[in-house]
Amino acid sequence: MILVFCELKEGTIRKPSAEALSEGRRLADAAGLKLGAIFAGASCAGSADAAKYGADVIYCAEGASLASYSSDGFAQVLADTVQAKGATVLLAAATAVGKDVAPRAAARLGAGYASDVTGLAMVGGKLQAVRPVYAGKAFATTSFASAVQVATTRPNVFPLAEKAGAGAAEAVAAPAGGFKSVVKEILAKASGKVDLSEANIIVSGGRGMKDGANFGLLEALADAIGGVVGASRAAVDAGWGLPHSMQVGQTGKVVSPTLYIACGISGAIQHIAGMSGSKFIVAINKDPEAPIFKLADYGIVGDLFEVVPELTKSAQGMGIGSN
Ligand SMILES: Cc1cc2nc3c(=O)[nH]c(=O)nc-3n(C[C@H](O)[C@H](O)[C@H](O)COP(=O)(O)OP(=O)(O)OC[C@H]3O[C@@H](n4cnc5c(N)ncnc54)[C@H](O)[C@@H]3O)c2cc1C
Repeated sequence: MILVFCELKEGTIRKPSAEALSEGRRLADAAGLKLGAIFAGASCAGSADAAKYGADVIYCAEGASLASYSSDGFAQVLADTVQAKGATVLLAAATAVGKDVAPRAAARLGAGYASDVTGLAMVGGKLQAVRPVYAGKAFATTSFASAVQVATTRPNVFPLAEKAGAGAAEAVAAPAGGFKSVVKEILAKASGKVDLSEANIIVSGGRGMKDGANFGLLEALADAIGGVVGASRAAVDAGWGLPHSMQVGQTGKVVSPTLYIACGISGAIQHIAGMSGSKFIVAINKDPEAPIFKLADYGIVGDLFEVVPELTKSAQGMGIGSN
């Protein structure tokens, strides 16, 4: 069996989890295996939708002890379910929770772990994973020596594929509690916009923005095209009041949107490490020699303070937009 850990948000399966499930279905078909989805929390309401993405069985660990995320509690649920159901592959989306829980589950299982993968295949009944290495400069194909194989899938890379599965619901035991760590409070952002790592369109600004207040120009463009705003480390570190959660790059978020618009960003290797997986890259920079142009699908050599408002005006005129 291939088991996929799925996260729910307000009763809906999160998109990165649905992508991991879709990929799990494809791999299960290739290897003649069953696909299981595993949910954990105070309630699994909404988990039945996993059948839409091909789950044969939907496991649910429901209980008060899992009402808040706990690294060791959730890892225990995953490891126990893998063992009880004889799963050989465990997948999770490379979200904040997935990146936290999957390696812990792998450690409990003595399993090999591949993080943030961008390609998966079943070869001779074993999992093979492709992962970006050296800050995205190269790709490594990883195979596993262990019987159980664990991987996290990078959001926005694996296509969503709806394919009906049997979706049989089965309860699994929730741990009693007494975990070493539990999330006590979540301070949600007021914006209600999607997280950068899940965004389909990102408009990012760098040191060329000159000031935090000028990020309003990027907000306007992002609003017009249904995107969210990101930043380079130089912009975040400049003391312009931009939070670290906006930072894209090696020490920020790894993003893989369909469209990434880099405004006043030179294209340092550490920035590229976080956004080279974008499907289309547009660079706006006044320096024609800026390294970002080597990576960009479309380059605009010009002053961003002239170009960005023009793009916004055109987008508003065309009425394009939701993310
Ligand atoms: C260990 C380590 C980790 C790092 N992690 C990250 C990371 O996670 N993310 C990250 O981004 N960086 C990271 N960095 C920093 C990285 O090396 C660069 O310093 C940084 O990415 C540069 O940001 P920038 O492109 O905004 O600024 P700059 O390199 O200063 O580029 C600014 C660009 O703006 C252009 N510009 C200026 N004015 C205008 C205008 N009016 N119109 C159009 N263009 C204009 C300029 O031509 C220039 O190309 C890291 C560095 C280290 C050592």
